[in-house]
Amino acid sequence: MNLAKLACKRVQELTPYQSARRIGGVGRVYLNANESPEATAFALDPSVYNRYPECQPPELLEAYAAYAGVNPQQVIVARGSDEIIGLLCRAFCEPGREAVLICPPTYGMYSIAAETNGIETLKADPDENFQPDCDAIEKILDRKPVKALFLCSPNNPTGTLLERDRLIRLLEKTQGRALVVVDEAYIEFASEHTFVDLLEQYRHLVITRTLSKAFGLAGLRCGFALADPEVVSLLLKVIDPYPICAPVAQVAAEALKPENVEIMRRRVTELNGIRNEFLEKCSKLSFVTASFDCNGNYVLLRFKDGNGIFEAARKAGFILRNFDDKPRLKDCVRITVGSRAEMDDLYAFLKEQEK
Ligand SMILES: *Cc1c(COP(=O)(O)O)cnc(C)c1O
Repeated sequence: MNLAKLACKRVQELTPYQSARRIGGVGRVYLNANESPEATAFALDPSVYNRYPECQPPELLEAYAAYAGVNPQQVIVARGSDEIIGLLCRAFCEPGREAVLICPPTYGMYSIAAETNGIETLKADPDENFQPDCDAIEKILDRKPVKALFLCSPNNPTGTLLERDRLIRLLEKTQGRALVVVDEAYIEFASEHTFVDLLEQYRHLVITRTLSKAFGLAGLRCGFALADPEVVSLLLKVIDPYPICAPVAQVAAEALKPENVEIMRRRVTELNGIRNEFLEKCSKLSFVTASFDCNGNYVLLRFKDGNGIFEAARKAGFILRNFDDKPRLKDCVRITVGSRAEMDDLYAFLKEQEK
């Protein structure tokens, strides 16, 4: 009996998202998943664990709305922003007929969420600065039934900040036709570049956020979308009944209290400092041939031999992320900004490779 043959054809053909955890690798220093180098402890209240949680815990929506500067009606919370991406595909794209549009190299989950739901992914190459090519995108929008355009700012893995003028041009073009989703998973590392202020004017703009990166809570699985209340209602039609476990809601609401947001901001300032120093030193290494914009808690470097460095680092206990096989990223390795000690350690290793 071949059970695989029982599965949907598209699932048989699917390659699941190659998360850092799935790729695995055992080392000493983990700089492959853009996680925070340290964990924070939060108190829990188990007295409510016998009850089903709220689908959308009101105090959590209020806390995130206050943090993001929007109304609670403009917020939806889910199991990480990855789940939000899936909800957007399911609520807005007709399987087998409609498509999403991405500008690779970018975050891998947009196309995987689409594919999992039987939705085609169309691609528009970005320009030489990794900005979306508006002409190319408009051509596709005019010819194909695209229902969601996924953009990412700062972009993972290139670090590029989306230019405001381009976003506005694309919002104008997609008006009444498709959603524009801006993934702001790393926005805390470049907070003045948020596009939240455009939500009022463009009701088809959706901004995704997460507690996994700057807040240091990847293990919690908690992400958000900021959108028009009507979009929020549509996403709530397709979400699972109880996506947010009670302990998750408790920890997340605690992490969003002003004093804890302040701690997060201080950590971000420190990590940005560590990143800039590390990048500055690395750009002087003879075998680093290019570096990219750095606006998140990661740097992308191009080496003379990216695969060679990636492998040598792995053997030395540093788990990094190899992007060599991604479009336009030959010989590129992405390195998460860890603690100062971790980055000093990694730099010493890289310097050693020069000999
Ligand atoms: C890490 C990452 C996410 C995933 O966020 P979760 O909330 O942990 O699901 C989403 N988008 C981008 C661009 C990321 O790098």
